Amino acid sequence: MNYSQLIKRTYKIALFAAVVCLPAISRAQLLEIKEKYTHADTLRGALSPLRICYDINYYHLDVKFNIDQKAISGSNQFKFTATQDFTKLQFDLFANLNVDKVVYKGKTLPYTREANAVFVTFPQTITKGSKDEFTVYYSGNPTIAKHAPWDGGVVFKKDSLGKPWVATACEGVGASIWWPNKDHLSDEVDSMMISISVPKGLKDVSNGRLRKVTDLKNSYTRFDWFVANPINNYDVAANIGDYVHFGDSYMGEKGKLTMDYWVLPASLEKAKKQFATNVKPMLKAFEHWFGPYPFYEDGYKLVETPHLGMEHQSATAYGNHFLNGYLGYDMSGTGWGDKWDYIIVHESGHEWFGNNITGKDLADMWIHESFTCYSESLFVEDNWGKKAGQEYNKGLRKGISNDSPIVGVYNVNKEGSGDMYPKGAVLLNMVRTIINDDEKWRNILRGLGSTFYHQTVSYDQVVNYINEKSGKNLLPVFDQYLHYKTLPTLEFGVRDGKLQSRWIADAKNFTMPVLVRINGGEYKFIIPTTQFTPVELEAATKENIEVDTLNYYVGLLKD
Ligand SMILES: [Zn+2]
Repeated sequence: MNYSQLIKRTYKIALFAAVVCLPAISRAQLLEIKEKYTHADTLRGALSPLRICYDINYYHLDVKFNIDQKAISGSNQFKFTATQDFTKLQFDLFANLNVDKVVYKGKTLPYTREANAVFVTFPQTITKGSKDEFTVYYSGNPTIAKHAPWDGGVVFKKDSLGKPWVATACEGVGASIWWPNKDHLSDEVDSMMISISVPKGLKDVSNGRLRKVTDLKNSYTRFDWFVANPINNYDVAANIGDYVHFGDSYMGEKGKLTMDYWVLPASLEKAKKQFATNVKPMLKAFEHWFGPYPFYEDGYKLVETPHLGMEHQSATAYGNHFLNGYLGYDMSGTGWGDKWDYIIVHESGHEWFGNNITGKDLADMWIHESFTCYSESLFVEDNWGKKAGQEYNKGLRKGISNDSPIVGVYNVNKEGSGDMYPKGAVLLNMVRTIINDDEKWRNILRGLGSTFYHQTVSYDQVVNYINEKSGKNLLPVFDQYLHYKTLPTLEFGVRDGKLQSRWIADAKNFTMPVLVRINGGEYKFIIPTTQFTPVELEAATKENIEVDTLNYYVGLLKD
């Protein structure tokens, strides 16, 4: 998760007021924004022929951390399948890191560099369908993250006893900030070996399972971690410190899930208590709503980090200081948000949305953040009831800016508005309200996880799936809330002597069923369109009609 928006929204909550009917962004404005992007952004964000020509199958990343020098050196082996004939391909490595050599069948390959991309030329055509491999050797001083996880790079800190404490975080900016890879969200390896060498006495905790620890006899120790599942690049992590371990297990939908916890010695007692009260309730809630934990083979882990947190697959980074809420703060302001540890719940929610299902383009980061932010409401519901979940969800609205669309700009590695967190969560609760069948909604959420199991997905795949399975016309709803910054406004007015309603919205042919009641009675659906139509509810007047504002986040106008 990228916390910059979260932090911003934490500070702006006091300034927040309901904002409706702001002008929608025009196509001309969008084009203007687009033109600001550089060729470097395109190299980073677009799927050029030099990237789609190979499908990455496996990495073996082998890196030594020289903590005194704040330097790294090592190699990454790329195993791939050619998807077409080619002689040249692109991989990515930040320009401040050296490419020492690229080795193919024992020989070095020529390469060129532009911005953060590297172009390698092979001595002969790599033919479509063939499986092949090359290894990149690299070294240098990686970008130091000053405000991880909000910026990205490597964090070099010391623990309270003065021992080194090092971690990586690179969501958004990209994993090529510290290791060479095909840095595009659409392509994930099927499995990966992560070998991290650290000064003797320290430990590395990475993703997957620890296979081997080797004393390298040069005052370094190497830790080999194997990830048995597809993993996106930004989830690959090194966490280096004077860690101690404790463990537990959970009998879940797929049997016994191992739980491994790595914390600093000084944190051990606090961690035991905080993890025991949060992790199993989280797993119970999310397996119920989303299906089995997606990475039983790799286990579930929490690793204490010198930054706040990140959804590092099967090795969730944890830095919430063993407090409930978000660093002790209830993001919803309702009282429901400080009964549980925000970072454990939110970051673990990403195992289902972000890690199991990964958006193909950073513009669709809402697939990670909207569903995960929504998962918080379901966690609250699972523990304290549906009403509590709805109240928590409504409380998140104070963090919404309505400043720009939630969907970002495609092909330039540009995410959309931070509204992807709270507004996305609110949208999903509204969609559930419209579907009006909680078991169907649960099956849709579980179906997303099983249908797109361990895959990268697009906007259309996710939205069309929900639309089809719901049996409702939800495309305009997703369109309005994800592509436009403005809320749809429900207008009531008397026309021809009768109460009528319509939507004012940007999305083409916008329509959305909405729950209304008369004189505090039972809520019933009306289905306004953008044309005024009569409200077919007995005795409805402009004065006595009321919208279900617990579940609907819309503008309201009575003329
Ligand atoms: Zn997140």
